Amino acid sequence: METRFQDQGQTIYNFLDEFLVECPRCSACALVITLAKTLEKISLFDQRRLVCQKCGHTSDWDRKTVATGGNIDPYFQLPLWLQIPCCGEILWAYNHKHLNHLEKIVQAKLRENKLGPGPKKTMMTQLPAWIMSAKNRNEVLKGIAKLRSKE
Ligand SMILES: [Zn+2]
Repeated sequence: METRFQDQGQTIYNFLDEFLVECPRCSACALVITLAKTLEKISLFDQRRLVCQKCGHTSDWDRKTVATGGNIDPYFQLPLWLQIPCCGEILWAYNHKHLNHLEKIVQAKLRENKLGPGPKKTMMTQLPAWIMSAKNRNEVLKGIAKLRSKE
C-alpha cells in the first residue's frame, strides 16, 4: 500500500470524460460520454451522450447548464452507478479513474502538496472532512473496494 500521496493538482475536471450512471430505462449501468474531439481539452460544457449497452437507450445532452457535485451526473442528473452508503454519508465517484484517484488519497498516511504556495482547489483539497479523516480510512477504503467490484 502506498502511504504517501503527492498532490499533482488533479481536480474534478480531470475526471469528466466518462460518468457511470444508472440507466433511466433499465437500471443497468450506462455511460455518459463526452463527444469532445480531443480528450486533452475536455470542457464541462462539451456535448455528452448517454449510452446504455444493456437496453440500447441513448440520449444526447446539448444544453448550457450543468449541476455538479453530489451523487448524480451533472448532465442527465441520473444517479451515479458508483455510490454507496459509507460512514453515515454517501461515497461516490464518477468513474473508475476517479475512484482510483480517491483511493490513492485516502490510503495515504502522508499527503503532500507539491504545488507551491497559493490557494489550491485540487480534488484533494475539496474532499469532505469525513473522507479525509484518519479514523474513517478503513471504512472508506472498504467502500471503495465494494464500488470497484460492482458489476
Ligand atoms: Zn438501459
